[in-house]
Amino acid sequence: MSGTYLGMPAFPEAAAVSTQNAQLRANLSHATRTIRDKRAAAVAELTDWPELRQSGREIKDHTLRHLDRYLLQLEEAVTAAGGTVHWAADAEEANRIVADLVKATGEREVVKVKSMATQEIGLNEALAAEGITAYETDLAELIVQLADDRPSHILVPAIHRNRTEIRDIFADRMATWGRPAPEDLTDSPAHLAEAARLHLREKFLRAKVAVSGANFMIADTGTLVVVESEGNGRMCLTLPETLISVVGIEKVLPTWNDLEVFLQLLPRSSTAERMNPYTSLWTGTTAGDGPRHFHLVLLDNGRTDTLADEVGRQALRCIRCSACLNVCPVYERAGGHAYGSVYPGPIGAILTPQLRGTASEVDASLPYASTLCGACYDACPVAIDIPEVLVHLRERVAEQGTGHRAERAALRAATWLLDHPAAYTAATRAAVGTRRLHPRRLPLPGPAKAWSDTRDLPAMPEQTFRDWWKKNRGEGKTAR
Ligand code: SF4
Repeated sequence: MSGTYLGMPAFPEAAAVSTQNAQLRANLSHATRTIRDKRAAAVAELTDWPELRQSGREIKDHTLRHLDRYLLQLEEAVTAAGGTVHWAADAEEANRIVADLVKATGEREVVKVKSMATQEIGLNEALAAEGITAYETDLAELIVQLADDRPSHILVPAIHRNRTEIRDIFADRMATWGRPAPEDLTDSPAHLAEAARLHLREKFLRAKVAVSGANFMIADTGTLVVVESEGNGRMCLTLPETLISVVGIEKVLPTWNDLEVFLQLLPRSSTAERMNPYTSLWTGTTAGDGPRHFHLVLLDNGRTDTLADEVGRQALRCIRCSACLNVCPVYERAGGHAYGSVYPGPIGAILTPQLRGTASEVDASLPYASTLCGACYDACPVAIDIPEVLVHLRERVAEQGTGHRAERAALRAATWLLDHPAAYTAATRAAVGTRRLHPRRLPLPGPAKAWSDTRDLPAMPEQTFRDWWKKNRGEGKTAR
């Protein structure tokens, strides 16, 4: 996976800053609450949601178990349909393949369908280094690009911006990227959408090359699938002469029948819709219809390493619906930028450290960016046990000695105490003996103060459990 955002601090420091931003918290809280309420209603309409969820999980697990077979089948089908398949082991290789393909067309600009895989590998920056400009066409991605910002949500990358901020971004920045915003632009959704439509239309009609991702790939037909809400993606997928799709290898599904399950799970989980407005499917090239040239870049970039981990591999089931973000109390307050990766929220906390490894401070901090409340697991349409993977990754971080300092010190002290029964008995007796002197809250200093200030100490019993046992169940006593 490409590097961390430049200069990005680890999660605790980044979150300490973002949680102080009242505007950001208000924007996030309003947006996530609205989406999660709607999603809950949309999911509740289906009586067979648990069965669908189980099917989604099983299809993904089966495919991951036989990934090599399905990828080869996919390559064969794409090639037979007139496309060309390229294999990219990492971000650098994928970026080089795409840049070479664009340069071979003689073009210097591309339009893009919203794609997490290309963000993951930093494609826009790599193309810019080669003198190629990539224009984002998803409305939220356009806002992020114009503002020279970073995405903060999987589905709604500009979720941290409100309408007034978006109006100002359009008014200030559209002219530097193409058609300017109208002079009388207001912050009404209709005005903003119209300004974006006119700005983008110019690009769609001019572009000869498009770059996309894909939500799914069907192995038996070589078909790629993009689901979206605006129709801008479809313009990218159909108008240009050359289409280059960069897709993670875990996005493959064996058959069309499998797609049916995910086309029910994804829209309800992500946008709370029964069906998303636009589902585009393309298979190779067809004379007289759509792009003349189609290239599929299959991206590994840490995925086979993730697959090798028996607990962590379930993260590869993810269909990027963002339901876990919208229910996460940590994401809601810290915002997406604090995670230092294109994958924020609970899924980012387990996927990023697996794709990038846990060597850096930022990546080692991510498994701790959670309260382990389990809301993400309940919401996930493919039943990824995110808390289980978080704990598993914490273990990995702790083993490499880069875990949370205070937690490690506390666990070391607890380990010593539990290893020394006499000391343990003395400590618990001392705690019980002084119970009337204990404060209601621990007066911890420094950063721990925020934690201790809002938590009462549990009331100490009148005797230790061992003393109680000796008195009530000890030798000569009978169990009641
Ligand atoms: S982990 Fe589950 S809930 Fe989160 S984005 Fe992926 S599929 Fe959706």
